[in-house]
Amino acid sequence: MINVTKSSMPSFEEYCEEIKDLFESHWLTNMGVKHQKLQSELEEYLDADSVVLFANGHLALENSIKSFDFPEGGEIITTPFTFASTTHAIVRSGLAPIFCDIKKDDYTIDPEKIPQLINDKTCAILPVHVYGNICEVEKIAEIADEYGLKVIYDAAHAFGVKYKNESVANFGDISMYSFHATKVFNTIEGGAACLKDPDRVRILNEMKNFGIKNEEEVTFIGGNAKMNEFSAAMGICNLMHIDEEISKRKAVYEHYIERLDGAKGIVLCKIPDYVKSNYSYFPIVLENYKYTRNELIHRLRLQGINARKYFYPLTNSFSCYKSFPNANIADTPIAQQIALRVLTLPLYADLSLEDVDRICDIILE
Ligand SMILES: *Cc1c(COP(=O)(O)O)cnc(C)c1O
Repeated sequence: MINVTKSSMPSFEEYCEEIKDLFESHWLTNMGVKHQKLQSELEEYLDADSVVLFANGHLALENSIKSFDFPEGGEIITTPFTFASTTHAIVRSGLAPIFCDIKKDDYTIDPEKIPQLINDKTCAILPVHVYGNICEVEKIAEIADEYGLKVIYDAAHAFGVKYKNESVANFGDISMYSFHATKVFNTIEGGAACLKDPDRVRILNEMKNFGIKNEEEVTFIGGNAKMNEFSAAMGICNLMHIDEEISKRKAVYEHYIERLDGAKGIVLCKIPDYVKSNYSYFPIVLENYKYTRNELIHRLRLQGINARKYFYPLTNSFSCYKSFPNANIADTPIAQQIALRVLTLPLYADLSLEDVDRICDIILE
């Protein structure tokens, strides 16, 4: 079975070597040596002023939103073309998601459509670098400045991506990464918030540990969102191989492009030359293709290939948001058009070019 992704792992020996001292120290969590080491290595790799590690990407995002203490009833402008986590993080923080449509060419939020959604309740913009495609960060920054809004990026797909030579970690007030097992870089489960403001770094570090400031002071009603030492050790090991992993992904990606570029009924998403990609996903959009999307999925599955409908359904069509006045797919027609026709093909470092050929043969047949 070829799945849409396969988790990157170090060798067994490498991981054992990294966790060995934990069996001596018995210090398993609460910002131990592995946590500190991974944090500083990521600050360097991601070229980020500060990295705050979390138990997972979702909690990094939720705590990032909560760290601003936005007024109750506040609104955050976001995209419905994303994973459930993005929209849930807004709602679980007591705020209302306001859905903005996406661009047809790269599926990121359409900045032209943001201003019309802004009112006096708007607090922030939460765009997603979906599939590692980088949002129009300059335009979004301009809008945020003009209207006095915060910008929190969901960069879950964009680990290691650079835009015009700048690390994606440095856009907006906070950028959130996910280190989930299925992502380009993983700590089994894990995530991070990257930011510059030292006060907010302190707030986030306290929030992820029950709001505990020191032994005698508790300043926030925080939960528990700490990354444990075994996860951090996995991250330390995976980070040693990340450049190699990304270049293997690049070879797979380029082979797909070579085979599928110009194919009838298949629309591809190209990487602009000012973006250094991480080749995290390979979405195709079917346009007048000879089979329906479900038929193609079925044909691939018969050959043991598991392609996925990322991102369908749109988050603004989830039944859990049925009572939300602003959750309406009719307001985001381009997102809906893409969601109905997109298919994400298998892409991971160890996927062989022969397997890519097999997948492409079925698509082109
Ligand atoms: C994976 C993902 C998340 C959540 O990250 P976890 O580490 O799984 O909690 C959030 N947003 C997007 C777009 C994702 O793909």
